[in-house]
Amino acid sequence: MNIHEYQAKRLLQEYGVPVPRGYAATNSREVETAISHLGDDMIVVKAQIHAGGRGKGTFTDGYKGGVKVVKNREEALDAANHMLDNTLVTAQTGPEGRKVQTLYFTEACDIEHEYYLAIVLDRETAQSMIIASTEGGMDIEAVAEATPEKLIRVPISPTMGLRHYHCRRVAFALGFEGEQVKQFARILTGLYKMYWDKNAMLVEINPLVKTKQGQLMALDAKVSFDGNAIFQHPDIQQLRDLNEEDPKEIEASKHNLAYIALDGNIACMVNGAGLAMATMDIIQSFGGSPANFLDVGGGANEDQVTAAFKIILSDPNVKGILVNIFGGIMKCDVIARGIVAAAKNVDITVPLVVRLEGTNVEAGKQILRESGVALTPADSLVQAAEVIVAQVNSAG
Ligand code: GDP
Ligand code: MG
Repeated sequence: MNIHEYQAKRLLQEYGVPVPRGYAATNSREVETAISHLGDDMIVVKAQIHAGGRGKGTFTDGYKGGVKVVKNREEALDAANHMLDNTLVTAQTGPEGRKVQTLYFTEACDIEHEYYLAIVLDRETAQSMIIASTEGGMDIEAVAEATPEKLIRVPISPTMGLRHYHCRRVAFALGFEGEQVKQFARILTGLYKMYWDKNAMLVEINPLVKTKQGQLMALDAKVSFDGNAIFQHPDIQQLRDLNEEDPKEIEASKHNLAYIALDGNIACMVNGAGLAMATMDIIQSFGGSPANFLDVGGGANEDQVTAAFKIILSDPNVKGILVNIFGGIMKCDVIARGIVAAAKNVDITVPLVVRLEGTNVEAGKQILRESGVALTPADSLVQAAEVIVAQVNSAG
């Protein structure tokens, strides 16, 4: 789960990380209030969407920049009027962009240098990894690509946790001296504590700036939390912004379905995350492209299968469906009845291939054959993938 920059900065502040004073607003009245709280001096107006690259983004009406440093309140109001309810396209939003429904107004600061600082769960080493760079700011992706040696990486063992020598090591690598080493150590310590306390998978400050007055501050923040641990953190759950999430994914979570929308055209309905991934791989290996990841779980019932069909079919890109179910906890005949009932409930207008395997598989297949539902039963995963890719391709 992701949160907005203004929410992330509030959290950072609770953990002792300095951030500029700021106010969020979702309508013109709040915009005026927010601006009036700030001085009639340099103000930064920032579009709040769950995607980075805002500074270099463009709105669909041609207005440039989702982060604007302006000279006074009047210009802040003007920028706000352009941004609010407008759609911002950045390198991370995809071409359709995101509608800006919240703005954040902050005091501007005089930047001397922009750094990058993040802690991320590194799956390869099964440790947390501090990643830092002197080349922070809007081009960090390009830096990582062209000059990866400019990224400092320091692993943190989960049993040891962050120690002072880690802080000093990163601080020195970033070129800090004296008082700034202390400031940096406080920031990294707070950041790590927040990452750990809240089950985050990523906390990122980009840019972390050194101001002309020698102060270190977080000017932008991104936090991703582990969705499987979120139930332990009702305070974080409250920060969820459904406007930023795919409506199909929201609907799926109501039915306890693990669904992630993708941009292909063959929908998958599978039980078990591993089987779901294998199914997506095999669709791909036959030249198809999966429209989603969907794990209906080990004990999916008819209601869940019906909901899953509805969610899948609400995606206009879907040109075919592959159902791949292993009858382990549930028997194949029970699953087949569920599929048939759901298929009769929902108007399925695209080719449907069903592969069942496991307990009572013959009884399950018979139910499918005799159901009168327009579907193609398959005997193996390979055959199922081959058939659905061919059917989707021949439909053009
Ligand atoms: P992003 O483009 O989505 O990563 O948005 P950021 O919040 O990181 O802002 C982009 C850039 O705007 C930063 O890298 C800074 O260069 C600039 N910026 C943000 N806040 C300020 C500020 O207070 N003063 C100045 N001068 N520049 C700022
Ligand atoms: Mg940034």
